[in-house]
Amino acid sequence: SVAALAPYRTISPRTRDGRAVTVAANIGSLRDIDPALEAGAEGVGLFRTELVFMETAELPSEDQQTAIYREVIERFRPRPVTIRTLDIGGDKPIPAIAFAPEDNPFLGWRGVRMCLDRPDVFLPQIRALLRAAAAGPLRVMVPMVSDIDEVHAVKALIDTCRADLAARGVAHGRFDLGIMVETPAAALLAPALAREVAFFSIGTNDLTQYVMAADRTNRQVARLCRPDHPAVIEAVRLVCVAAAVAGIPVAVCGEAAARAEMVPILVGLGVDELSMSAPAILRVKKQVTEIWAVPPEARP
Ligand code: PEP
Ligand code: MG
Repeated sequence: SVAALAPYRTISPRTRDGRAVTVAANIGSLRDIDPALEAGAEGVGLFRTELVFMETAELPSEDQQTAIYREVIERFRPRPVTIRTLDIGGDKPIPAIAFAPEDNPFLGWRGVRMCLDRPDVFLPQIRALLRAAAAGPLRVMVPMVSDIDEVHAVKALIDTCRADLAARGVAHGRFDLGIMVETPAAALLAPALAREVAFFSIGTNDLTQYVMAADRTNRQVARLCRPDHPAVIEAVRLVCVAAAVAGIPVAVCGEAAARAEMVPILVGLGVDELSMSAPAILRVKKQVTEIWAVPPEARP
């Protein structure tokens, strides 16, 4: 019941064997902040910025974006906020960006691929993130990475934006840069990618559809499109091992993070943070306190 979950609002959950697991919120707009804080979110694990871009006919300006990102950071401070750079593509086009029709939008010009081709869209967002970073702890992550050169390119653009703000005397801060691991390529390249970034966040919604070659929106293939499939679990395991070797944290921000049967699997594989929509937070916090990270019978 809701009352039984209330005590979990203020706790930072640990497994029975003492592993801390951060339970954070997925948000899509400023309207999601209050419910997330009321549910006891220990930060934001995923702010999907798409809505910021879809709510207006023109692209949101750098100043408008700075104000929105800053407000999220201020409301959650001192808890960390993770903002994802624009993840938009042919399946959910926005009027201000010209998307050519594609036969396979999920395999097409979306996420970081589009952003790297459109500096007029990407640079104002990066500058806004740097400016908002002065307000508190910020992590920024890039969606749909499938190649190490994409990470190098993003880092170069961040350096350019930082130099630009400094030259103009605009106040700004620093953020940790991470990537979403949601393509099989990123999972297979995880050992190399882990040396380039400060954290991983596994997007199990997309990782599942790409590992299984099963469209996440197609009900006829729902039997295959499931995060508890051994192939998906193996991909998650590879990512967790690579992160552990490199000493960086791993989050999961796909729907799997809130699924009761997935929580013990993800925690057991070494996931440090689970991020989900507000209504699931208390239930998952409670579940974390009831499970073992390493089952007693599996200990050395
Ligand atoms: C994911 O792919 O798991 C994810 C969190 O991103 P989105 O659902 O926005 O694609
Ligand atoms: Mg995704």
